[in-house]
Amino acid sequence: MSILKVARIGHPVVRTPARPVEREELVSPQLQRLIDDMVETMYEYDGVGLAAPQVHVGLRLAVLEVPASDERSEAAVPLTVLVNPVVTPVGDETVLGWEGCLSVPGLRGRVPRLARLRLLALDRAGTAVDLEAAGFFARVIQHECDHLDGNVYLDRMLDLRSLCFLQEFHRFVAPPED
Ligand SMILES: [Zn+2]
Repeated sequence: MSILKVARIGHPVVRTPARPVEREELVSPQLQRLIDDMVETMYEYDGVGLAAPQVHVGLRLAVLEVPASDERSEAAVPLTVLVNPVVTPVGDETVLGWEGCLSVPGLRGRVPRLARLRLLALDRAGTAVDLEAAGFFARVIQHECDHLDGNVYLDRMLDLRSLCFLQEFHRFVAPPED
């Protein structure tokens, strides 16, 4: 497996809508390898999600995993591969929460997101996934799906004054418990 180079905002690939993954292409060794490399890259940079456009690949594909240690999450989310994901709202409640992004390194900001959603997607084997998500899991899904349309969390922020560097976030906003 390889660690891939992550595109940052300013690179056009981050702002380019991605195309759907074809079923034959999904099961190919090249695409399966890409998924493995995206997972490895997400772990390497301590991300909780990574979308293909962030590694210079214009496909509707993302990976996510939330460790139990993430202070923003109510529960750990196991490794999930999203292929051609479609999100629909469940209810109209939105919640504000903190997000960061490997394409916007070193920053965090508060972003409004749907509190609950329904996710339709394929997994890496091409099997249909149909689930409801809430809380931080729902947040990460929305963040990653945004990347597939060329959007980043900064676009969703209602008040840019919450934007802060990670170091200041941990110093002033959410000091680590000890
Ligand atoms: Zn991101």
